[in-house]
Amino acid sequence: MTVSLGTPLTPHATRALLLGSGELGKEVALELMRLGAEVIAVDRYPDAPAMQVAHRSHVIDMLDGAALRALLEQERPHLVIPEIEAIATHVLAEVEEEGLATVIPTARATMLTMDREGIRRLAAEELGLPTSPYRFVDTRDGLVAAVEELGLPVVVKPVMSSSGKGQSVIRAASDVDAAWTYAVQGGRAGGTRIIVEGFVDFDYEITQLTVRHVGGTSYMAPVGHTQVDGDYRESWQPQPMSEAAWAESRRIAGTVTEALGGRGVFGVELFVRGDEVIFSEVSPRPHDTGLVTLASQDLSEFALHARAVLGLPVPAVLELGPSASCAVLAEGSGVPVFSGVDDALATPGTDLRLFGKPRVDGRRRVAVTVARGEDVDDARAKARAAAAALRIELAQG
Ligand code: AMP
Repeated sequence: MTVSLGTPLTPHATRALLLGSGELGKEVALELMRLGAEVIAVDRYPDAPAMQVAHRSHVIDMLDGAALRALLEQERPHLVIPEIEAIATHVLAEVEEEGLATVIPTARATMLTMDREGIRRLAAEELGLPTSPYRFVDTRDGLVAAVEELGLPVVVKPVMSSSGKGQSVIRAASDVDAAWTYAVQGGRAGGTRIIVEGFVDFDYEITQLTVRHVGGTSYMAPVGHTQVDGDYRESWQPQPMSEAAWAESRRIAGTVTEALGGRGVFGVELFVRGDEVIFSEVSPRPHDTGLVTLASQDLSEFALHARAVLGLPVPAVLELGPSASCAVLAEGSGVPVFSGVDDALATPGTDLRLFGKPRVDGRRRVAVTVARGEDVDDARAKARAAAAALRIELAQG
């Protein structure tokens, strides 16, 4: 693709349309705009984070195929860049097929990763990658049977959900009913299909950020992270690993991203036990745990994504030293209003992003702190301290 950059809002513009406009999309939008692209942000609610920094925005239900198609015909973007899974991906397949737009990374990748079943079957059954043992079930009886086959403990997840919604661990037979109800309530689009996975007793888990670009495939240093209820809380880079485990991580990441194809950043989620590496899932886009790269790399995962999707070179990334990120959550109802930002930023090597989310209803990530340190422990302590210094009030109205 030959792109003409530096001419937004003119007939020469390269137009990039973001499907999903959260905090990760906001960083991608900023990086695309720095390179002179025209950015159109789309989400299902107004004033979403990326909309606040885009050239223009639209509010539509991205699962509504007709609405999505009409918008793409109206905007005629060169690039369609998904930030979320919940999209009418058959429309993306159509526009790719018709040559209307380039879908990042590919329409097929967005379809396969839209639910946990497509990507798990590709990884385990077609590519032969190591995964946890699993069953897909649609009923409570199916869940009971799967528990019997796999043995306890198991992890239960709706096939369509994100940020840990509907996810729980069954440790005893008495947990089955609660896990079933929670999964059915947590699934997107009212579906009842769930994946039941054997619990992997891993030593640690990583995200292997992988970039497919014009010059080939590049692997970032491994990102370690902690999760609570299936939602990321802290990440750091580099995660110390054995040579063998890291080589295996890159092999798995290379295999799955090659199968998905296209260009852009992928977040390949892996469990590590000794030298053994087990594939969990993959996001065909920047990953939330990769927010740490805002501090750890000269080109963050967002800058890398922008370069890769625009067909620009991705040279070797400069690693800036051990770094960490800490997610900041707000819980309740209202408009998040921050104080303590000055305290959070007082320590050298510490930075943050306030996402600008217009409202919180329930539990929502509203900010992230990042820090560089002497080592990963020091960086984590700094990022946590900065997060603790932030105070969030949920204002009414
Ligand atoms: P996921 O939404 O599939 O990325 O899962 C979120 C988190 O739940 C993972 O990052 C792990 O910490 C944990 N988890 C998911 N699946 C398993 C599993 N099969 N065994 C152990 N932990 C898991």
